[in-house]
Amino acid sequence: MGETNIDSDQIRRQPHGSVGAAAGQKAIAQSNSAEFAEALFRYSAPEEVMTFPSTCGACAAMCETRMFVTRIPYFQEVIVMASTCDACGYRNSELKPGGPIPEKGKRITLCVKNINDLSRDVIKSDTASVKVPELELELTSGTLGGIVTTVEGLITKISESLERVHGFTFGDSLDESKKNKWLDFKASLNKILSMSEPWILILDDALANSFIAPATDDIKDDHQLICEEYERSWEQNEELGLNDIDTSSADAAYNENTHG
Ligand SMILES: [Zn+2]
Repeated sequence: MGETNIDSDQIRRQPHGSVGAAAGQKAIAQSNSAEFAEALFRYSAPEEVMTFPSTCGACAAMCETRMFVTRIPYFQEVIVMASTCDACGYRNSELKPGGPIPEKGKRITLCVKNINDLSRDVIKSDTASVKVPELELELTSGTLGGIVTTVEGLITKISESLERVHGFTFGDSLDESKKNKWLDFKASLNKILSMSEPWILILDDALANSFIAPATDDIKDDHQLICEEYERSWEQNEELGLNDIDTSSADAAYNENTHG
């Protein structure tokens, strides 16, 4: 079986220069499903949740937004906002970084050994790549967008996304070998979720906005989870628009003054 790659060509590239500023404020994840908010609100005590009136993003009716700011242990300070519209049922949840852009990138490696590991919370930001060596699978950053899920949910979403992107559906005129390749891959996906053997999940996030929950109170006792920080390369900073983050506004002001 060959390596399965989805590249991020479909992902809109923002013009250079504005990206750095945007990268810091950009949501880690955004969703219209209920499960997202439920998963994150578990990290907060009810009295920490603020409620304020807002307008529905779909129908403009008045609705209520719940918000809290918290520090997720072994992750970072985050801002969670969720609203549900009683009038039209539209839901919107957003997870944002609460602090400055982390200085270093972060690589998280989880050895998935038992069925409980499948229900660990996972936050995969848009800038994280996902690797599953057992499947020869690598999804580059920008693929799948930002999601709040579990280990099992992540694998399921990858499967659904590959199926959609490659149009692997039964009954169409897909040639036989491609179809068999996909069926093989899907069988391997199901096999890793059946936990007959341990497997490795790697999230590599240049902006360190991703997270896999430890199974123990102290992360040091969790021998299946390894978090490594690394210096971003110049290319990675360039990709994230961080190399000119400090000069872009000055440049704009300069241009405005000289040409405006
Ligand atoms: Zn509405």
